[in-house]
Amino acid sequence: MDTRTELLCPAARAFLQGPKRMLIDGQWRAAADGAVFTTEDPATETTLAEVPAAGAADVDDAVQAARKAFEQGPWHAMRPSDRERLLLRLADLVEANAEELAQIEALDNGKPVTMARAIDVAGAAGFLRYMAGWATKLHGESLDVSVPLVREREFVAFTRQEAVGVVGAIIPWNFPLLMAAWKLGPALACGCTVVLKPAEETPLSALRLGELVIEAGYPAGVVNIVTGDGAHCGAALAGHPDVDKIAFTGSTEVGKLVGGAAMQRLARVTLELGGKSPVIMLDDMSPEAAAAGAAQAIFFNQGQVCTAGSRLYLPRASFDATVQALADIANSLRLGPGLEPDTGMGPLVSRRQRQRVAGYVQAGVEAGARLVCGGDAELPRGHFFKPTVLAHAPETSSVVQEEIFGPVVVALPYDDIEEVVGRANGTPFGLAASVWSNDLSRVHRLVPRIKAGTVWVNCHNLLDNAMPFGGFKQSGLGREMGRAVFDHYTETKSVMIAV
Ligand code: NAD
Ligand code: MN
Repeated sequence: MDTRTELLCPAARAFLQGPKRMLIDGQWRAAADGAVFTTEDPATETTLAEVPAAGAADVDDAVQAARKAFEQGPWHAMRPSDRERLLLRLADLVEANAEELAQIEALDNGKPVTMARAIDVAGAAGFLRYMAGWATKLHGESLDVSVPLVREREFVAFTRQEAVGVVGAIIPWNFPLLMAAWKLGPALACGCTVVLKPAEETPLSALRLGELVIEAGYPAGVVNIVTGDGAHCGAALAGHPDVDKIAFTGSTEVGKLVGGAAMQRLARVTLELGGKSPVIMLDDMSPEAAAAGAAQAIFFNQGQVCTAGSRLYLPRASFDATVQALADIANSLRLGPGLEPDTGMGPLVSRRQRQRVAGYVQAGVEAGARLVCGGDAELPRGHFFKPTVLAHAPETSSVVQEEIFGPVVVALPYDDIEEVVGRANGTPFGLAASVWSNDLSRVHRLVPRIKAGTVWVNCHNLLDNAMPFGGFKQSGLGREMGRAVFDHYTETKSVMIAV
């Protein structure tokens, strides 16, 4: 490792130096065949740790452990209030180890540690607490049935919401700890057991979270964590016949594969996939306010956000002034390693991701877009990419149609609002959108016409535990967060008793 380890707290340093094992049935284990892979610090391209590369045999062990824990033993016997208390304890432990977790996240993913503290770690603790509350508040219904066929009997009928069973959770690298919490929270609140597979780029915070799961007192097998790549470990989990439900967050391309594998056995499946979210500025926004909003929508987390506002629709009259103000903000963001306190934007997560983003920007310029600012930072080391503004790309070009997943926004002028609705809805995605204006009636007329799971007004990228989150169209299937998430982690059982 390099000099910046002096910025690490002793706990983070100790964790990084220790051996990395997977969590299966309450045991810390290497892969059955001894295979390993490495994870790097994307700011320095140095190796952080060697991690077990799980194969199908390890995934099978983890699923069997989760099955056993679900069907029998202490977890099966726990009451809702026991599950609530355990989740609260886990949230407290995340909070008690917040600085260590934030530093691990900043190092493994590259994001600024200030963001890791405020968003990833505080968000994970808050979400686990919110879900703890639901453990005791889920319920079925009492039904007043008629049963016209049998008039001589009376009936008592009700529904039960029962835990769906073993959950296979596959998560991406952009918010590693928070995505782990988004999967564990609802599963553990309602009594499921879990096999969690973090992304191969960022396996470390999930492994530390696994230690906290044990410390909190969860019985063996309730939470299992398998580290490995998508093709072997992820695919083995998605296709495992004894997994009852798959919860996936990642690309639309892989989401279709994972969803298809789940559908082969009619396993329950939720998919949180890509986006190409439009940011629509109405003509009452000043160029400065529009630029500030647009910057927040696209540059947060290096643009590696599924809801990133990557298409910016601006009224033609103020287009040039707004684009210039946005470029000024972009040029003022200080690129640096996530661990350094004054870093405004960290590196992208990997060389592959930087090449992908650079390829899109080049394709955009070749398609006729103007590069207003940004591009590859071309630093001697680290996967740094400058905050980038493209203007005037053709609506059909890849930079307007496809998810780039980097700090790249395409600014596009419009002449009337009717036209912009069609263009905003004109991609295969439908995850999120934002509308910016203080003209209440125009805003309210726009909101129902936008095909997206979340529509923000005068803000972007803000989530709340109580707000359902998910996509229309090819941005996914199902909803996470809020009460709505339990539609996908429970089965409804109808019970009829003739009395
Ligand atoms: P990905 O979809 O390949 O990876 C997400 C997760 O799926 C990882 O844990 C990965 O190991 C796993 N996975 C990969 N192939 C699998 C398979 N065949 N079966 C089961 N699991 C599998 O995403 P990526 O390759 O890391 O990134 C590629 C692009 O995906 C990005 O450029 C971005 O556009 C998009 N992406 C979107 C999100 C999001 O939150 N919407 C997150 C990450 C990446
Ligand atoms: Mn890493």
